[in-house]
Amino acid sequence: MQYDYLVVGAGLYGAVFAHEAKKQGKSVLVIDKRGHIAGNVYTEKVEGINFHKYGAHIFHTNNTEVWNYITQFATFNRFTNSPVANYKGELYSLPFNMYTFNKMWGVVTPEEAAAKIEEQKKEIKGEPQNLEEQAISLVGRDIYEKLIKGYTEKQWGRDCKELPSFIIKRLPVRLTFDNNYFNALYQGIPVGGYTKMVANMLEGIEVRLNEDYFDKKAEYDAMAKKIIYTGPIDAYFDYKLGALEYRSVRFENEVLDTPNFQGNAAVNYTDRETPYTRIIEHKWFEFGKDENGNDLPKTIISKEYSSEWKLGDEPYYPVNDDKNGALYAEYKKLAESEANVVFGGRLGEYKYYDMDGVIAAALDFCKKELA
Ligand code: UDP
Repeated sequence: MQYDYLVVGAGLYGAVFAHEAKKQGKSVLVIDKRGHIAGNVYTEKVEGINFHKYGAHIFHTNNTEVWNYITQFATFNRFTNSPVANYKGELYSLPFNMYTFNKMWGVVTPEEAAAKIEEQKKEIKGEPQNLEEQAISLVGRDIYEKLIKGYTEKQWGRDCKELPSFIIKRLPVRLTFDNNYFNALYQGIPVGGYTKMVANMLEGIEVRLNEDYFDKKAEYDAMAKKIIYTGPIDAYFDYKLGALEYRSVRFENEVLDTPNFQGNAAVNYTDRETPYTRIIEHKWFEFGKDENGNDLPKTIISKEYSSEWKLGDEPYYPVNDDKNGALYAEYKKLAESEANVVFGGRLGEYKYYDMDGVIAAALDFCKKELA
């Protein structure tokens, strides 16, 4: 055995584990089928802008241990996510807060806003059974119709009545004038980009790119005592119980010869007719400046289209409904009986983790594994 550990996938889970294992004196090999490290948090420089190739990643956490951990590898800027919703040309503040309620209903005080929500949520009796009921009981039907229904159905490709209510609980509802999307103690974007941050985590560790584990599985398995697998759990088992469902995302990227396209990093298109869910203007993650503090003359935008994942696409979001949950449970049983292989991360655990959740899960695992 050449290595103590083979890490399949150079994303956040793999990078945290590899870093910690090396620190404990273990020998580690990281492989990734892509031509770069950092998984879906990968950024690259285009026109002086750190371009989030696989979609916007905004780091946020309430977990001080995770924050202290990740800030070893990067300095974070003061970016605060405050997306704008565009519903047929009407602009609303997100997350749902007093600015949103004022624009929607003309209400001025928190008391008036609360009364409006109270009146509209009456249509939901008892415990909300799905995302639609959950949304209406949080913010009422008007906001549901204009700011939630279209966006959610585009993002998930499913009717809101068919989706689990927990998805919408990610969004805060506030009776204050606070546009900060995340209720997080710590938030920001790593200065210099995520790729640099992950490169710092992987410093001194052997990484082989453009290596597909499944092309030479037996060979790789023979190289290490233990495997940390961070790819899709169903792919590992060659989909033998059937494929888990994922949502995939496709981006249409454009470099524009204008300094300011939309005035914000994220604008969500919440109507049903616009085919994309949102437009990201990457330069605003870093306040439109290059690393020397100069204004950037051009801009890059990405229109984000959501689609059902099919074989060959990149999986982005697990579809955590009951049906997929039950199938995942079956795969998990298989995974547990797989000697010397550990499954981790958003794809390995089929879980809608945020970045901080992935780091926390990886650190927990390290505590058990490397103790
Ligand atoms: N959401 C919504 N309208 C919006 C933004 C979000 O209804 O303008 C809901 C939607 O159900 C979505 C969930 O909130 O699936 C989470 O969205 P978010 O953009 O936070 O997800 P991300 O893609 O960033 O993980």
